[in-house]
Amino acid sequence: MQRKKVVVDAAIDRADRDQGLLLLLTGNGKGKSSSAFGMLARALGHGMQVGVAQFIKGCSTTGEEGFFRHQPGVCWHVLGDGFTWETQNLARDTETAQRGWAVAREMLRDESLGLVVLDELTYPLKYGWLEVETILADLATRPPMQHVVITGRAAPEALINAADTVAELRDIKHAFRDGVRAQKGVDL
Ligand code: ATP
Ligand code: MG
Repeated sequence: MQRKKVVVDAAIDRADRDQGLLLLLTGNGKGKSSSAFGMLARALGHGMQVGVAQFIKGCSTTGEEGFFRHQPGVCWHVLGDGFTWETQNLARDTETAQRGWAVAREMLRDESLGLVVLDELTYPLKYGWLEVETILADLATRPPMQHVVITGRAAPEALINAADTVAELRDIKHAFRDGVRAQKGVDL
């Protein structure tokens, strides 16, 4: 334990450069999206401009959307809002996802955005609506100081390999399985 701490401390001492990071938060445990929005708050606290693309069904408004969407310096897109995911029609879902990715890509080309959250991006990847190669190519050409946080369960290996920081949230217990529905302020 002590030795591990020494190794970590030495690594922290050596770390002296800045770079836009690609972070990936995956796994089945709770805390992926809420962590990403925690970083969004941090970035805003430093006066940075930020972007969010949520690849979820735009059904219920979350607390994070209610709070962040109208803050100055925030560019917020719910991709899937106004048109429906899971039509059981692969061609249509693919088109929806790709239209959504075109919006995300614009943010990855915008030098003014210091941090971009791509929430639940692994979802359209898992269903084959988006190609991981397309995503990686756009991530690779983003502004060098732009940070990107990707969340979602079951991240593909290629995304894990490309990311600078990867954390897997492990599910130990969730109140949902005791019959407690999603709670405002905690789950949404
Ligand atoms: P959060 O947004 O709370 O950080 P998450 O992004 O890690 O959660 P998702 O896979 O996006 O988790 O799931 C979204 C919703 O499901 C949230 O309401 C979250 O609290 C809940 N949830 C997360 N993990 C679990 C789990 N292991 N069992 C049941 N519900 C979960
Ligand atoms: Mg999530």
